[in-house]
Parts: sequence; structure tokens; C-alpha cells
Amino acid sequence: MNQIKELEIKCSIEDHDYAQLVCLNKECKANRVYCDQCIRNGDHIAHINDQWNIQKLILIFQNIEKESETLKSDLCLINQEINKIFTQLNQKITKKYQYSKERLQKLDAKQLHQILNYIIKYEEVEKSVLNEVKKCSDDMIMQIKRYTSELKIEELLIKNSRKIKYNTVILKRY
Ligand SMILES: [Zn+2]
Ligand SMILES: [Zn+2]
Repeated sequence: MNQIKELEIKCSIEDHDYAQLVCLNKECKANRVYCDQCIRNGDHIAHINDQWNIQKLILIFQNIEKESETLKSDLCLINQEINKIFTQLNQKITKKYQYSKERLQKLDAKQLHQILNYIIKYEEVEKSVLNEVKKCSDDMIMQIKRYTSELKIEELLIKNSRKIKYNTVILKRY
């Protein structure tokens, strides 16, 4: 029975064979996609437990895909939660500080007295809400931009993926 190989990638070292293993050690500086010859040359032997058969890679990537989908939906939920509380905050501002003529005409002296107590403090409230929210938002924007720039993929990967069909990478399905 012939086993169909899902990934056929040449070792990046000239005159070497097809890559059979990949190294997933975090500190490793050698080629992560390599062949038998490389291991005979002594690469990766210091962390032999982090070596995987290249055919297992598809499973590893499927796993990462699943986990990163969860991360994306968690981030979406956070975004929705923030939108929700902003809407609530805006509604409270409308209710507490916006009085049309019609709304004012329905008030008695006691109610107007109460509302004036709020209105005279409006500028303080405005300043503090804006400052606090702006401070948090600036922090959050800065962090998210930092992560976004860290997640930028290397130029090499983008260039290579354009000519992938001419490459030695062959992805087959059963
Ligand atoms: Zn090699
Ligand atoms: Zn290694």
C-alpha cells in the first residue's frame, strides 16, 4: 500500500534530500525543515524531543487554526462588549444631560431643582469622563497596534507564497 505524502518539501540545503522532519524547539537557530543528512550532521540533537515528522505538520496547523479561531472570536466578544458599554454610556449622557424644551416643560420645580444640581456639575463630569476614557482607549490602541505589528509576517513568506505553484511544495488531499 502506497502512502500518499501530503507534504513534499526539499531540504533547503543544496544537494540534500526531501525534508522528513521539522524542529519545533523555541530556541533552535538551525533550519526547522530538514532531512536525514542534516540530523547526521548534528543539527537538533540537543533537543531531540522537539522533532516532528513532517507529515504530522498538517495536524499541528489544523490545531493552531482551531485555537486561533477561538482567539479571534474572543477578541470579537471583547470588542462587542466595549461597544455595548459605550452605547450604554451614551444613553446615560442623553438621559441625564439632554433636555429639550418639551422635556423641560413637563418638569415641576422640585424636579428642575434636582436637574440643575446635575447640570451645574456637567463640565466637571465631561472632563473626567473624557480624560479617563481617552486614557484607557489610548493604552488599548497602543497595545493592539503593538500586537498587530508583531504579527506582521516576514517579507520572504509573502514573496514565496505568490509563486507557490512553481515551488516544490505540493499539498495533496486523500
Ligand atoms: Zn538537509
Ligand atoms: Zn532544532
